[in-house]
Amino acid sequence: MSALTPPAVIGIVGGGQLGRMLAQTAQRHGYRTAVLTGGEERTPAGVVADIEIAAPFGDAAAAQRLVDCADVITWELENVDLGVADAASQAGVPVRPGRQVVAAAADRAAEKRALTAAGVPVAPYREAADPAELAAAVAALAGPLILKTARSGYDGKGQFRLPARGPEAPRSETFAELFERLGSVRLIVEQEVPFDREVSVVVARSLTGAIADHGVMENVHVDGILDVTRVPARLAGEVAAAARDLAARVARHLDVVGVLCVEMFVVGSELIVNEIAPRPHNSGHCTIEAAAAGQFEQQLRAVCGLPLGDGSCRPAAMAQLLGQLWANGEPPWSVALSDPGIHLHLYGKREPRSGRKMGHLTCVDATPGLALKRVLAARDRLGP
Ligand code: AMP
Repeated sequence: MSALTPPAVIGIVGGGQLGRMLAQTAQRHGYRTAVLTGGEERTPAGVVADIEIAAPFGDAAAAQRLVDCADVITWELENVDLGVADAASQAGVPVRPGRQVVAAAADRAAEKRALTAAGVPVAPYREAADPAELAAAVAALAGPLILKTARSGYDGKGQFRLPARGPEAPRSETFAELFERLGSVRLIVEQEVPFDREVSVVVARSLTGAIADHGVMENVHVDGILDVTRVPARLAGEVAAAARDLAARVARHLDVVGVLCVEMFVVGSELIVNEIAPRPHNSGHCTIEAAAAGQFEQQLRAVCGLPLGDGSCRPAAMAQLLGQLWANGEPPWSVALSDPGIHLHLYGKREPRSGRKMGHLTCVDATPGLALKRVLAARDRLGP
């Protein structure tokens, strides 16, 4: 199989910031890009791409248009209609990562099954498709539980925390209400993990099966949304090595060609995989400045059948910029940039809704702690 070289066209499913940064990287390398946005026009990725197709993911004609102009299809999100993958395989256009990887990552039940089959530890869980199964799942699992919708959940959306059984735990008749509250859809009921840290590994796998990662990222979430990342994570050497091995194992087991993010909980020296995403990830944002080949360059290289670059990271940190920072208008960017080591990334989103990811700051320094201090100070200077 020969490599796709510039000026080949990378077809990107999704118009968000991850697609934007892939399109920017592809452009720098001389590739062209086409983006299927999901419906909106002038999306973060679409304004950077050569071609923006503003149509729903399930629009067969739009999917065909993307396939017709692309030499390879890749993803910047997974909760989508997979018609593009079908149209691509009909047309003989490679889809990287493949349909089965994206389908597994888009459904928490399929994901847990795939992870378990790969021999990867996950939190004890049950599937529940109706109130009776929900009651049975709650009865079978101990401790506080997290209920998650099997599909369409991200950033803590579609989740509900159920306290340990006790006076405040629901009586059986309330399971019907609880099931309804979560949308009367298939659920995953999983044990809450009393984690010490949350970490992730962004791993790239090439067409020849070569693997490269960026080390282990340490993440802090606020209200279910990633807030800050530092790299490398504060982990014992053998735990960090095990985290990287786990991510590689998942990538190999799923036969990923492209980039895969594996999010994990650390409990003592034990690792439990929470979820996977078959694409670059917010927690990998600092790789753009901290690595010779950041996560978007690795995605580009992998999906084009090129050798992977050097993903190893210098110590770095990232702070996310959410919509609430725009409460009093455009934040005063110059005060964040008064520290010359701060990198500002804005995604070009026009509506700064609360909780919406609008951009991020990164910094590379001698230690992750120093880098984190600087990105947090820069973000603080932007306002409350
Ligand atoms: P998710 O959408 O599954 O990535 O969940 C968002 C965040 O909720 C995670 O990053 C954790 O902070 C928290 N969370 C999700 N599942 C669990 C769990 N089983 N135990 C503890 N915290 C969890």
